[in-house]
Amino acid sequence: MLVVYGVKRKLKIDKSLGTQVCPNCGHTVDLSLAREKCYAHIYYIPVFPWTGMRMKACPNCGVVETLTSGQYKELKNS
Ligand SMILES: [Zn+2]
Repeated sequence: MLVVYGVKRKLKIDKSLGTQVCPNCGHTVDLSLAREKCYAHIYYIPVFPWTGMRMKACPNCGVVETLTSGQYKELKNS
């Protein structure tokens, strides 16, 4: 019997942090606060969700800065 299973990851943009200068590319961009939503699936049916990496992302160069849970909540609520 063949069992189809695996892990899917989605990026969810939670908030725009406004216009800032990206520390990587140096462009003035609209930085986003994002988190990775992950779930294990069996036959493509989600069975076990969890939150992966929390990050600040640059839409220009794609670089991400990983945040701790506390830093993420602070930025989200500010
Ligand atoms: Zn950048």
